[in-house]
Order: sequence, then C-alpha cells, then structure tokens
Amino acid sequence: MVDWRSVTGALFVDLDGVRARYECLLCRAKEGPVFGAADVAAFTAGVRTDHRARCAAAAAATGGAR
Ligand SMILES: [Zn+2]
Repeated sequence: MVDWRSVTGALFVDLDGVRARYECLLCRAKEGPVFGAADVAAFTAGVRTDHRARCAAAAAATGGAR
C-alpha cells in the first residue's frame, strides 16, 4: 500500500535563481515556476495543500477523505 500522504509530488527549489516549481506525481500537473524570494517562500509553503485542494488524482487516491 502506497502512502499517498507523503508521496504526492515533487517540489523543486532553485535558491541560486530564486525560483520554485512543483510537479504533482499523481496527475502530472505542474505548478509555477514562481520567481523572487517572497513568491518562492509563499509558493513552497503552500503549494502542496493548494494543489491538493484541486487535484482530482489525489482525491481519488485517498478515497476523497480530504
Ligand atoms: Zn495533482
């Protein structure tokens, strides 16, 4: 049984270029990239929950529990 709570996506952060993007491993959607320290900080803090809220694949994988 796969634990979808921990393996749902990949977050990429490039601190040299101050850039971040997120790729969902369930639905293959890509979020971002965003640029700039402030935007990157907000993006990395919230993208998992933000994407999860609209990810149909995650909802299906967890039985719609969240
Ligand atoms: Zn997704």
